[in-house]
Amino acid sequence: MITAQNTNVNEIHKEIETSWNEQLEFLKELIRYKSLSGDERPIQQYIAHYLQNQLHMHVDRFQPDIESIAKHPGFSPVEWDYENSDVVVGSHYGSEGENNALIFQGHTDVVSAEPVSLWNTDPYEPTEKDGRLYGRGAADMKAGLAAMVFAYRAIQKAGYQPKSNVMLQFVPDEERTGNGALAALEAGYTGKAALIPEPFGLKAAYAQVGSMWFRVRYDTVRSTQDGHVQCNAIEKGQVIIDALKQFVRHLNGQVTHPAFKDQEEPIEMNIGKFHSGDFESNEPVVGTIEGRIGLVPGETVKERKESMRAFLREALQSDDWFCDHLPHIEFYGFHAEPTESDDQSQLFQALDHAHEEVIGGQPKRRTLPSTTDARFFQLYYDSDAICYGPEGGNFHEIDEWVDLESVKQVTKVYANLLSSWCGLEKISEATAEEVDVSK
Ligand SMILES: [Zn+2]
Repeated sequence: MITAQNTNVNEIHKEIETSWNEQLEFLKELIRYKSLSGDERPIQQYIAHYLQNQLHMHVDRFQPDIESIAKHPGFSPVEWDYENSDVVVGSHYGSEGENNALIFQGHTDVVSAEPVSLWNTDPYEPTEKDGRLYGRGAADMKAGLAAMVFAYRAIQKAGYQPKSNVMLQFVPDEERTGNGALAALEAGYTGKAALIPEPFGLKAAYAQVGSMWFRVRYDTVRSTQDGHVQCNAIEKGQVIIDALKQFVRHLNGQVTHPAFKDQEEPIEMNIGKFHSGDFESNEPVVGTIEGRIGLVPGETVKERKESMRAFLREALQSDDWFCDHLPHIEFYGFHAEPTESDDQSQLFQALDHAHEEVIGGQPKRRTLPSTTDARFFQLYYDSDAICYGPEGGNFHEIDEWVDLESVKQVTKVYANLLSSWCGLEKISEATAEEVDVSK
């Protein structure tokens, strides 16, 4: 078991306390960037600048190149570009190199805050109330980003540096595909162990569902000898939604995976968009339904596509319109496979220990009802990856919040994990000049 040396830990925790207001300001600044997926460049520039000037890391910032990742099995097909998206990687090269290298990786993109008018506060102007910070991305996952930055910074401020390499990775487009994380890893920024500070309430996630986006397109016009007949596409949309719900019930009835089988609805579906109609007095005749569906470990995206097509074909046979006018189904965005990992691995044990030192007791284990970028490490790069981060709520909803005390706690846990996993050494006079943390 690797454990942190207590002497260092006390000094480092003191730095976290001392820098708390600065950390809070950094977090607030991140929330002020409206970094919707596809529009991450400004926040990435800010972070790259911070890593370079405050943490004195070696910083790389680059745009994901779709062509170079498109053939990778973890790639999700996109209908957009990365013209305004960057990956940022800050690297510290320790004296022991790759040996016990550790990656912290988080996404900087956030989901839409609409309808903004229903928020109690401006989603992009962080607001503190009763120990919570409100704002879009406060929990998912800008608080985690701030925690990983300030854990590393506290180590430096206390006069230490990790002996092994450390990477702080900031990736775009996690909320639609995960292609940002894939681009970082495909660029060679890999390692054996990764921690992803997603806001799952100081619990360690060991299994997560997959996620797949779909689009159903249909029309309700049929040519006849005398012209055409038609019916109402909005009303017919309900028939498709009902069939999709039936499909999800069918899938949930078949789940046998031990980590998910006792959950009420391990496979969730969300209808996220429905477009039809353009005039009050016209009958709508085309419709588009877009949504997201989950997969549990043991299932694959490829199989899910096939079973979804087959189920809809069958289920719509009983409908007088769709029986001979099947809708068109396509898949884009998330093509995320589900994953699970060994929760007794060396990394889990190290995290358990770091959590115990700061909070006491073992962190609870949990499964995730959504995908995260941890899957890339686990499935394609033979690395261990854990999601563990602060406590928050209302992710992807109005009035998203994060609990500030939990942010401070995870910052300390990260610092302990970094110290124990990588080992620490005093920053020497020579390096201190280079790493001038007083500025
Ligand atoms: Zn997230």
